[in-house]
Amino acid sequence: MGFWRTLFGRKPPDAVPEAVHSGTYGFAPDHPILCDSPPGEREFIAGLRCPSGHLLRGPRVGSFDGKCPHPADHEGFLPDERPGEHCLVDRYDVTCENGEYSCSLYFDMYHPQAPEQPAPEGLTRATPDSAV
Ligand SMILES: [Zn+2]
Ligand SMILES: [Zn+2]
Repeated sequence: MGFWRTLFGRKPPDAVPEAVHSGTYGFAPDHPILCDSPPGEREFIAGLRCPSGHLLRGPRVGSFDGKCPHPADHEGFLPDERPGEHCLVDRYDVTCENGEYSCSLYFDMYHPQAPEQPAPEGLTRATPDSAV
């Protein structure tokens, strides 16, 4: 008892898996990668490389409740949407082609105007030459 209170001085959010607490860009639903529609998600994944330089592949697992880091540019479809509080994010469980690296990536796909997004921590983006 009092564990969470001791640790953080407040009540924890309920039922969020431990990994999600990291709040790390790309790996958490409240800190998704911005992109344009599902093709933008797949294009981003295709341009990523694992820490050892391998290609990443994996299925879209589904939509989750997340938060938009850039509500001003969010182009959603719901009239009363407040993307800064809740928005749908897509999750992909990807594994590298060599199989030694895997992770879950979260995307907010309602950003057709999003600037080039950086790679999540530990991953790299392929050079433009090899990303054809
Ligand atoms: Zn790898
Ligand atoms: Zn958004």
